[in-house]
Amino acid sequence: MQTLEGKVALVTGSSRGIGRAIALELARNGADVAVNYRERADAAGQVMQDLEAIGGRCVALQADVGDPEGALELFGATLEALGKVDILVNNAGIWQGSRIEDVRYDFLDRMISTNLKSAFYLAGPAADLMKDEGWGRIINVSSVIGVTGYPGDSVYGATKAALVGMVKSLSRELARYGITVNAVVPGFIETDMAADTGAETRAKILKTIPMRRYGRPEEVAELVAFLCMSGDYITGQLFTVDGGYTI
Ligand code: NDP
Repeated sequence: MQTLEGKVALVTGSSRGIGRAIALELARNGADVAVNYRERADAAGQVMQDLEAIGGRCVALQADVGDPEGALELFGATLEALGKVDILVNNAGIWQGSRIEDVRYDFLDRMISTNLKSAFYLAGPAADLMKDEGWGRIINVSSVIGVTGYPGDSVYGATKAALVGMVKSLSRELARYGITVNAVVPGFIETDMAADTGAETRAKILKTIPMRRYGRPEEVAELVAFLCMSGDYITGQLFTVDGGYTI
């Protein structure tokens, strides 16, 4: 297994939850890390303290990745601070349920921009650099909801399924350059997002998870680090971390 010494990772939405755990795990394995957040500067500041304690270079960058200009500025600021991008983790995402009759166009646009378009805004410039390096990792954080579906989640699920569709074609496009493109597919993970589901839904969901517990963000992060360090011949795949939910 190679370490990530000398590699630079950009992890979108890494001030909290799964993104935070990924940023820390990549840093523990030697990577320099760009932390991105949308509004919670205090949370991003806390992640910076944790990263500084690990060692290595890091930077916290505010940007709305669902906005093309914001995403490009984020990419430019990462290059300015850390010099390159070897690993791109498209993790930033929002969840909101809605019955189909209540889906409004602005809601649809916001979900698609944040969860899906952001990955395209960043993968283009990242691939350009990675081709020159002859090495790269692009990892999209999808969701089991994009695979199995869930009532009221047609919009969220569509964005997460589309991230997998992106992985399938992009992995074929970039394989010859030493760039791998994969999706991690978390089940229900203990984060602020999961807390938004409410107690009743949570109890219902727990009964459907064979392991009878939500996952920890670190359990997703360890998989991402594995793909970055040992995944030279692994591309175009989905990796599910869900306690057996989708069996
Ligand atoms: P959280 O809500 O805990 O954290 C979301 C993170 O994304 C925060 O850092 C937030 O920044 C950032 N963010 C949100 N919108 C934007 C934006 N427009 N631009 C930049 N950053 C943004 O989410 P999770 O950690 O739970 O989820 C992370 C990813 O994992 C998401 O893509 C989610 O869909 C996916 N996922 C989560 C599951 C779960 O059960 N938790 C299950 C399956 C998939 P800020 O702190 O500033 O708000």
